[in-house]
Amino acid sequence: MASKFQAPRGTFDILPEQARGRRRLEAVAATVFARAGYEPIATPVFEDTDLFERGVGKSTDIVRKEMFTFEDKGGRSLTLRPEGTASVCRAYLEHGMQKLAQPVKLHYLGPFFRHERPQAGRYRQFHQLGAECIGTDSPLADAEVIMLLADLLDELGVPGVELRLGSLGSFEARRAYLEDLKAHLHAHEGDLSNDVRERIDVNPLRAFDSDDEGTRGVMANAPTIVEQLEGEDAEHFAEVRALLDAAGVAYVIDPTLVRGLDYYTRTIFSFVCDRLGGQSEIGGGGRYDGLIEQLGGQATPAVGFAAGIERILLALDEEVAGEGRDAFIAVADPDQRQRAMALAAELRHAGISTELDLAGRSFKSQLKHANRIGARRVLILEADGTAQLRDMESGEQRAVDPGNLVDEMTGDEA
Ligand code: AMP
Repeated sequence: MASKFQAPRGTFDILPEQARGRRRLEAVAATVFARAGYEPIATPVFEDTDLFERGVGKSTDIVRKEMFTFEDKGGRSLTLRPEGTASVCRAYLEHGMQKLAQPVKLHYLGPFFRHERPQAGRYRQFHQLGAECIGTDSPLADAEVIMLLADLLDELGVPGVELRLGSLGSFEARRAYLEDLKAHLHAHEGDLSNDVRERIDVNPLRAFDSDDEGTRGVMANAPTIVEQLEGEDAEHFAEVRALLDAAGVAYVIDPTLVRGLDYYTRTIFSFVCDRLGGQSEIGGGGRYDGLIEQLGGQATPAVGFAAGIERILLALDEEVAGEGRDAFIAVADPDQRQRAMALAAELRHAGISTELDLAGRSFKSQLKHANRIGARRVLILEADGTAQLRDMESGEQRAVDPGNLVDEMTGDEA
C-alpha cells in the first residue's frame, strides 16, 4: 500500500530508470568541460540570504518571491540557493582565486531551489549545470562559454535548439538606456499589466518578459539596448558575433532578450528548444562584470551560463537502457551460500558486476531472477563443489574449474 507521504509539491524523485539518462548527461558534460579546461567546483546548497540579495538583486522575481529562506538556530537568515553564479563568485573571493592565473574557469552541477508555480519543466527543486569564466572581459571568453553550451547540447543530441543573443551594454550604457525605457513605460502606463506598472522604476527590463497582451503591445515599440550600443560596448558585441560566426555557431540577435537576474552586463544569451512548450529555455547566461565588486571584491569581469538538467532531459525524451549484470551466482544448495558471497566479492573486485540471491529463492527461481535482472552469465555452484557456467543468451552450459572461477570469468570469454 502506498504511504500517505509524497514528495513535496514541485519536487520529484529521480528513479533508477531516470537516473541513467542523467548519468549520461553528466558524463557528456564532464567531458565537454574538461576538454575546454573548466575545473569542477561545488558550493553549499544553502548560503547567507544576503549573498543572493546582493548578488542576484533585490528587484528580481527570484529574490522578491522565489527564495526558500529560513532562520537557523542562531537566528541567521539562510537561503537554499536559487542559482549558482553568486555562490561561485563568493567562493572565488573567499579562496583568493584572484591570485591564480586568470581567467579562472569553473563548472558546477547540482540542485537549486525556487518557489515557483510547478508545471512541466518548472520545479521547486531542479538541477542546473553551469560554467563560469572569471577574470577576463575578452569577447573570446563570451564566445567560449556560449560554445561550451552549444557543444554540450549538440553532443547530447538535443533537437530543435536555437541560440538567441543580445547585449545589455556596460552598466553606464545600461543606466542611460533604462532611463529611456522607463520614460517609454511611463508614457504608456495605462496599457501595462499591474505587475509591470508597479515595477517600472525598479526593474523595467522585466516588461520584455511579460505575457500580458497590453504590455506586449507597449514593448513592441519600446527602445532596445542593442540598437543603442556604442563605443566599446558595440565593439565587444560585434567581436562576440564575429567569433561565433568564425566558429560556425548559429544564432539570432534578439534585441528584447532580458534575463531574470540583475547582474548581467554586455553579452546575454539564451538557448531555447522548440520541443519544450511553455518553459522553452534550456539554458542561458551572460557577462556579469559588476557582480564580484558588488560582493565586495576588486572589480573582476566574468561570464557564464547555467542550463536546466530537467529541461535538457525533457527535450531529449529518451530512455537509456540499464546495463544489466555481467554475472549472477546461483547456488544449487544453500550450503554454498558462503562460497557464493566470497566469490561475488572477488568478482566485483575484479570489475565484474555480480549479483547473487539475497532472498532465499529456490534454485529454479534463482535462474529466473538472473534472467529478469539481465545477467549475461550465471555461475552455478553445485552441492558437490563443482561449478557450471551458463551463457544466458545462447543457453549453453559447461563445467568450469571450481578452483579458478575468477579467471574463468575474466578470461577471453568475458
Ligand atoms: P536562470 O538561472 O534563471 O538563468 O535559469 C537557467 C536555466 O535553469 C533555465 O534555462 C532553465 O533551463 C533552468 N531553470 C530555471 N528555473 C527552473 C525551474 N524552476 N525548474 C526547472 N528548471 C529551471
